[in-house]
Amino acid sequence: MKINFSKCRSVLITGANRGLGLQMVRQLLDSPNRPQKIIATARDPAAAKELQELAKSHPNVHVLPLDVTSDSSVDAAVQSVESIVGTDGLNCLINNAAINMPCELDTVTRDAMMKTYESNTVAPLFVTKAFLPLLRRAAAQGSDMGIQRAAVINVSSLLGSVQLNWGEVGSFKFYAYRASKSALNMVTRCLAVDLEAEKILCVALHPGWVRTDMGGSMAPLSQEESISSVLSVISGLTEKHHGGFVDYTGESLPW
Ligand code: NAP
Repeated sequence: MKINFSKCRSVLITGANRGLGLQMVRQLLDSPNRPQKIIATARDPAAAKELQELAKSHPNVHVLPLDVTSDSSVDAAVQSVESIVGTDGLNCLINNAAINMPCELDTVTRDAMMKTYESNTVAPLFVTKAFLPLLRRAAAQGSDMGIQRAAVINVSSLLGSVQLNWGEVGSFKFYAYRASKSALNMVTRCLAVDLEAEKILCVALHPGWVRTDMGGSMAPLSQEESISSVLSVISGLTEKHHGGFVDYTGESLPW
């Protein structure tokens, strides 16, 4: 499988200023089969130096402010994106932004649970709702299910799998993060049910355990390894994957 976004006119990535989001922008740009428009969003674009550098040398990268937890920020981003994509609509929305507040049974707080739920579960749902008119516009233009039509990719985590939370995987004590990603998986499936008739593909995707600020230095995968696989998997998504939970190799994960 190869990265192939040549039939995908536009991609929007949240949290594209660092970590896996920034790596997605880099690798999409490096690909000979890149999308026509890459909309890279960040909470604070002025502080996103690496992203700004990429945008300077690549006119197809559009950097926009987007705090996924703020309705006014989301609404403003939708307006800006509409002026970028026009009548083509938006083909691929990647809900990548998230937080992790490590907390175990002794240290978990109401505040950590609620903040994490807000960023990792509620925000991807409301960002998707806000961009639905633009996703629908793209979907109305025909073609088979996939990123050439319209797709919502929710970046989830194996740590959100209830079935796998046991043994070695159970040793990661992240009450808030795990619960938020399990709930994101359910949000993804609910969206898949509701958007099936319009053939808007919805998938939850685990990028592997990766060396980023969130993944830490012990993680086995580099950002390059994870994202080259992630983008290849996204390139090959079809109706078979709709409503599913897959990892960066394309394998299905248990809920
Ligand atoms: P990261 O290095 O911590 O980066 C997180 C990104 O999310 C940053 O760009 C951050 O922006 C952004 N963000 C957080 N809250 C935001 C908000 N309210 N509005 C806009 N942007 C916000 O994390 P990562 O490792 O790249 O993770 C990316 C995705 O992969 C996440 O969904 C994560 O759960 C998932 N994941 C990661 C791993 C791993 O091992 N790394 C494993 C499984 C799943 P700021 O710079 O403004 O904070």
